[in-house]
Amino acid sequence: MRYEGNIYSPYIAGDDYILQCTIGCSHNQCTFCYMYKDKQYRLRELNEILKDIELAKEYYGDVKKVFLADGDALSMPAESLIKILDCLYDTFPSLTYVGTYASAVSILNKTLAELIELQKHGLVEAHLGIESGDEQVLRAIQKGVSCGEMVQAGRKIRQAGINLFVTVILGLAGKAPKAWEHAKNTAQICNEIQPDYIGILTIIVQPGTELYEKTQRGEFEVPEEMEILAELRLMIRDMELKHSGITSIHPSNCIYLENIMPEGKDELLQTLTTIIDSKDVSQLRPRETDRV
Ligand code: SF4
Repeated sequence: MRYEGNIYSPYIAGDDYILQCTIGCSHNQCTFCYMYKDKQYRLRELNEILKDIELAKEYYGDVKKVFLADGDALSMPAESLIKILDCLYDTFPSLTYVGTYASAVSILNKTLAELIELQKHGLVEAHLGIESGDEQVLRAIQKGVSCGEMVQAGRKIRQAGINLFVTVILGLAGKAPKAWEHAKNTAQICNEIQPDYIGILTIIVQPGTELYEKTQRGEFEVPEEMEILAELRLMIRDMELKHSGITSIHPSNCIYLENIMPEGKDELLQTLTTIIDSKDVSQLRPRETDRV
């Protein structure tokens, strides 16, 4: 298959066919992110993308799930995305899922009517990196949008009938007391958006990023594992979700949790409290700090 540079997709995407619609990320300025540092953002030519789908048919035969990459495939014009979706569903008879990364800016740049049209043409899920619900943290990491814009974007996706998967990052504010504000405000933003799924990640400080430089200068410190768990416990404690899945299966995390909120809230809190009270780090899994 034809790909340009390193390809990333959500860890839950597994064996999905990844279709590169854009190269790199339209923002590419988050201080912790190293994924697309080597790429100059651009939209791929529609003809190239449609040709890729033809090649994928020859290579895979049929597929059930497709994920649109790179960082922000929703930044493509809606007409192009509709042509891509139609081509995918025409080409793969078993296809039931098409997901995409979507930045808040790209979502807000689309009209609700356009998003509804994308949903009707088979866009099942959008992955939005919220990272934090704390205004100061969003500014510090140069996310490029405010909490208010993030909420608007998340709600717009849900209003269009597209499933919303958001990611939040533990440790992103450094140590307490900032960590507590980050946890509480991130719970709050999730409450305001009510996403279908929340993916928990833990900060990985990668060389080549601004966050790495800050860490080297002593301006940022990644919390210890037990501090991370306490942050997660506080976040979950303050979450008031009507029906959202929550998962920490990403390898950056030191604990594996998966549940449905609100039913699983007590169980999640109990699990975290047991481990925190025991202070037994041997119960934790080693974090994989070289994966996204
Ligand atoms: S975190 Fe997302 S929006 Fe920020 S630079 Fe990385 S890919 Fe782009």
